[in-house]
Amino acid sequence: MTEFSNQFSRRKFLLTVGASAVGSVLLKGCLGNPPDFADTAQVQQVVAANISPEQAPETTRVKLGYIPIVESAPLIIAKEKGFFAKYGMADVELSKQASWGSARDNVEIGSAGGGIDGGQWQMPMPHLISEGVITKGNAKIPMYVLAQLITHGNGIAIASKWQGQGVDLKMAQGKGIVSQLKSAGTPFKAAHTFPHVNQDFWIRYWLAAGGIDPDRDINLMPVPSAQTVANMKTGTMDAFSTGDPWPYRIVKDKIGYMAALTAEIWKNHPEEYFAMRADWVDKNPKATKALLKGIMEAQQWLDNFDNRQEAAKILAGRNYFNLPVAILLEPFQGRYDMGDGRKIDDQSMAPLYWKDEKGSVSYPYKSHDLWFITESIRWGFLPQDYLTKAKAVIDQVNREDIWREAAKEAGIAAADIPTSTSRGVETFFDGIKFDPENPTAYLKSLQIKRVKA
Ligand code: CA
Repeated sequence: MTEFSNQFSRRKFLLTVGASAVGSVLLKGCLGNPPDFADTAQVQQVVAANISPEQAPETTRVKLGYIPIVESAPLIIAKEKGFFAKYGMADVELSKQASWGSARDNVEIGSAGGGIDGGQWQMPMPHLISEGVITKGNAKIPMYVLAQLITHGNGIAIASKWQGQGVDLKMAQGKGIVSQLKSAGTPFKAAHTFPHVNQDFWIRYWLAAGGIDPDRDINLMPVPSAQTVANMKTGTMDAFSTGDPWPYRIVKDKIGYMAALTAEIWKNHPEEYFAMRADWVDKNPKATKALLKGIMEAQQWLDNFDNRQEAAKILAGRNYFNLPVAILLEPFQGRYDMGDGRKIDDQSMAPLYWKDEKGSVSYPYKSHDLWFITESIRWGFLPQDYLTKAKAVIDQVNREDIWREAAKEAGIAAADIPTSTSRGVETFFDGIKFDPENPTAYLKSLQIKRVKA
């Protein structure tokens, strides 16, 4: 053989081996098994052939945490449908987190220490971790918010014993019931899964809008989901602020009913986010954008309602949520049996991942970070003077600039890339407005709060 043909056949051989390595990694990924890391070098070679060299990721490997609720769908779909691999991230490991506390602990140590590099978060966890507010020894672990994963998909479940008594969206009789229980020395008991983040905020907002002070009139505490459901069954828990699939299970098992969907409290509200350790992003800027492109493609795929049956099947699988597909199917179509005779059938109320009636779901608006921080101040979780530094913290943590770059590289239409970091004035179900230009006015407009505004 001549020198030339020798080289040629060797090259052809490598490409053939590489292509089958990609096939086997994708197949293993689909079956939910961890990819074979021995194939990494070959995968890198082949994937690099399909994407421009200036966009090729610095690494194909990352470990992302998730909680088995519908918020994690873009991460799971990006892996299972091959969207991460398409952009060169062939070795994404998704790691189920036992609780939000474990996710926080795992991101503190990073993947090098056996933890995670980032993943799914309630808000403002990335800001609180960056600022050392909820970390061990108040260590500051800088994080970047990179995308929003979802809107909607959460709600307030109430124990069956209160059905038909006016503990509902507008709390027709809720205030009276709650004050009677308080006087009797058996206060109304409510749970969320982690303090000072979304699910705590949703139930607080709903209670306060109904004239109930969540700190003074009831017992509100963090309790693990399974325990809360068991307590609702035995009658020792009255309410639960949680995400799908839990509300649906509570209704189907006749443990309780849904007083409110978060889509009813604040239509198109910000929910959970994709955020990573800043050191990982700074070291791997191209891999970060590759992850974002995979997530964006998964979000678009998820918002095609024709794909929702397949999505429900993937998420419900034993490797992920491990529950019957039927539990996810109806909420995924915007169909909610609220359990008290009320039925909702409206796709605009369903969990949405890419777009909602207000525009982009995926883009992380800084104005939403500001609402989460303002709400933290409302309840005394952060000091009142925190508002003066909120902008600086948000500018450091929220990396919407990286989202924009990734969106452009992915060829997202200009119309789908927001032009402002603010979504503007937000309106809640009780008529209260949040103007991101004037968070103090919002605090002033609220009756029940822990600050003097
Ligand atoms: Ca949630």
